Amino acid sequence: MVAAMEIKTTPVLRSRLQEIDIENVPFGKYFTDHMLVAEYDGKTWHSVEIKPYQPIQIDPSNAALHYGQSIFEGIKAYHQENGGVAIFRPYDNWHRFNASAVRMQMPEVPEEIFVEGMRQLIALDKDWCPHHDDHALYIRPFLFASDNAIGVRPSEKFTFIIILSPTGPYYPAPMRIYVEETYTRAAPGGVGYAKTAGNYAAAMYPTARAQQQGYQQVLWTDAFEHKYVQEIGTMNVFFISGKKALTPSLEEGTILDGITRRSVMTVLKEMGLEVIERRIAVDELQEMFKKGELNEVFGTGTAATVSMIRELKYRDFIMEFDTNAWTVTPEILNRLNDIRYGKVADEHGWMFQV
Ligand SMILES: *Cc1c(COP(=O)(O)O)cnc(C)c1O
Repeated sequence: MVAAMEIKTTPVLRSRLQEIDIENVPFGKYFTDHMLVAEYDGKTWHSVEIKPYQPIQIDPSNAALHYGQSIFEGIKAYHQENGGVAIFRPYDNWHRFNASAVRMQMPEVPEEIFVEGMRQLIALDKDWCPHHDDHALYIRPFLFASDNAIGVRPSEKFTFIIILSPTGPYYPAPMRIYVEETYTRAAPGGVGYAKTAGNYAAAMYPTARAQQQGYQQVLWTDAFEHKYVQEIGTMNVFFISGKKALTPSLEEGTILDGITRRSVMTVLKEMGLEVIERRIAVDELQEMFKKGELNEVFGTGTAATVSMIRELKYRDFIMEFDTNAWTVTPEILNRLNDIRYGKVADEHGWMFQV
């Protein structure tokens, strides 16, 4: 239960909302009037505050800039059919955030700051939540080291911030994917399951190389043999074969446990598919493709929900798909959207009303 915590709120004198056409904005470029900031001093959380969105001052010796103790989350709130605003599965993100924090030797953020603070922030900026179908309010909580010292050790002080960004529909064109066999995203014992900034930094060079060859993202493979698939860029991956849905299992700790992944697995089961989590070899996918048994391939994540894959390049072997003929992937998107915009009853308890 949420303990009472006073969150000091300083509203803006004048909203910037009129200056921005929030129904027509690129992803992650505009931010709402307010932000939540909280400080950790090595023992307790204090100075929890909602205030006008503004730059923060960082000392040049800030430990996060040098050693990367920095984690984040990505969540969306949706305008509801009945007029309100609701957040999709924020408790799942809160738990994952704290799992990332533990792995990076950072303090866990209490529920009354992460969830209740987020709720109060969104309540204040609710007019920034777009009304159109397929639009949402993107929520970005993040935590970083704020000691000013360049000695290598865990920071004592940390800063937690939540910012909000209205987002438009994100219908990525079906993607061409390069199966990566040189660089790795994650190895057992590493930080693959944590949503930490460095994972993103390390992915940029291999991704840029694939992009130079005309691919949008890479399909990461395991660090030892480059034989088993992990994720597509920063999305979890699913393979549909008849009435079966395959997705890599999580037990090696090399895969980010996506909330969209969990939700898609639930919806797939409700659609009557068998969901199988296990190791999946690229060779196996190639064999399935040759036999005509690999029907649909897609990535999942909060930004796009599902992104169709129209081509997988594995060495000299190209697997191409006619995404127009797909039936499973579009239905998943429809079912999830109906839940998120409050068009059907929320039988899973996924929606958190602001
Ligand atoms: C955030 C993320 C995902 C998707 O997680 P969601 O909770 O579905 O948004 C998948 N893979 C990686 C590497 C990620 O960072």
